[in-house]
Amino acid sequence: MPLVKCPDCQKEISDQAPVCPGCGRPMQKSVTKVEDVNACGLMGKPGTFSHTMNVGCAALIIGIIIIFVLLGSLR
Ligand SMILES: [Zn+2]
Repeated sequence: MPLVKCPDCQKEISDQAPVCPGCGRPMQKSVTKVEDVNACGLMGKPGTFSHTMNVGCAALIIGIIIIFVLLGSLR
């Protein structure tokens, strides 16, 4: 279980802790990142390609939305 430093009080806490036990600061940044990558449904390791994946994923989602809007307006 890796430890991370709380940016507010510099106390070392578990990265799985929802809040810092020292000052009560919410610690959910890393969890949100993983969910963002997984939500794209793309296979890949977090880190090297994360930026490219996020851009490609955003373009893919926008394209799908446009297709649905076009299909909806045609009917
Ligand atoms: Zn803290």
